Amino acid sequence: MEQWQKSLENALTDASELAEMFRLSEETVRRVASVFPFRITRYYLSLIRAKGDPIYRQCVPDERELQESGDLMDDPLGEEDLTPAPCVVHRYPDHCLLLVSNCCACYCRFCTRKRKFRTPMCVDDSSVRRGIEYIASNPAIHDVLVSGGDPLLLETDHLEDILRRLRAIGHVDFIRIGTRTPCVLPERINRRLVSMLKKYHPLYINVHFNHPDEITPESAAALTRLADAGIPLGSQTVLLRGVNDDPEVIRSLMRKLLSVRVKPYYLFQSDLIYGTEHFRTPLSVGLDIMKRLRGWTSGMAVPHFAIDLPCGGGKVPLVPDYLEKVEGRVYTFRNFRGVPYRYPDIEE
Ligand SMILES: *Cc1c(COP(=O)(O)O)cnc(C)c1O
Ligand code: SF4
Repeated sequence: MEQWQKSLENALTDASELAEMFRLSEETVRRVASVFPFRITRYYLSLIRAKGDPIYRQCVPDERELQESGDLMDDPLGEEDLTPAPCVVHRYPDHCLLLVSNCCACYCRFCTRKRKFRTPMCVDDSSVRRGIEYIASNPAIHDVLVSGGDPLLLETDHLEDILRRLRAIGHVDFIRIGTRTPCVLPERINRRLVSMLKKYHPLYINVHFNHPDEITPESAAALTRLADAGIPLGSQTVLLRGVNDDPEVIRSLMRKLLSVRVKPYYLFQSDLIYGTEHFRTPLSVGLDIMKRLRGWTSGMAVPHFAIDLPCGGGKVPLVPDYLEKVEGRVYTFRNFRGVPYRYPDIEE
């Protein structure tokens, strides 16, 4: 067994231990966990500085997860309807998701796939194989995003088998992997994994970080190993109330990501998923954060703010409005400081 597998086995899953650690009611922890289980790696647990802090909120079960709310749904992204083959979610014309794992190192309390913690979908080898056959028979697909769960929780040989088969498909131009392991289980990014991954270039990895406190010497070392293997790194962040719904926190996170060679890619509005109402922020909060990034910090640090529309609509970018008015062919914009500038357009 590799070290990361031991760490995973040793993760905190015991309700009474968690309750005692943070002086919670054990009965409440059990009640929430019976609906949405928890698992917290010892490493991620060590990042908690105080009960209720941004790391704590992301991983410790909360009574509010059991609140009912009219807006929220089990499958908010309508993924079940976009599944033409097992393990495939195909929404866009030229790229798709391949879901290869139903496990995560740490169960995020705000997760879009929360429903899968309840009824684990079956990702057996033959389903993944059929998913790959679908991709192979669909020449329009140029980019496959290997996701889950967390694909890096598969054993290295098993993941390699999947990558090899995808790489053998001529029309797949590049492969992407989405993973949260650098953030919650950095020891997963070991030498053996990295030397396997670098055989399957062009390969991109998108990591998931939500708070500057998650960028530690350990996670930075994991990211460095990936970047040194020539893997371009992007990140996604979910906007979460009480965790990172603050322009200074997001700006600091984006800068820290760049300093460890990760290009911020998406900032997501949180999805309408059961049990996550307490994490939701109004759209205006995200738009305000975007306004305070653009121009005020490196353009490299500015992600796309996007909402994944309910019912399978897909991702839509949300951009603060810089256009003030249009008079004939003269457009008036306000720059990042709010100063108006006129731009004469050319006749069509
Ligand atoms: C997010 C997502 C993708 C990837 O979208 P990009 O904008 O290309 O990163 C692809 N398919 C589905 C179903 C998705 O939800
Ligand atoms: S790592 Fe991703 S898929 Fe897994 S629980 Fe967290 S948000 Fe969900």
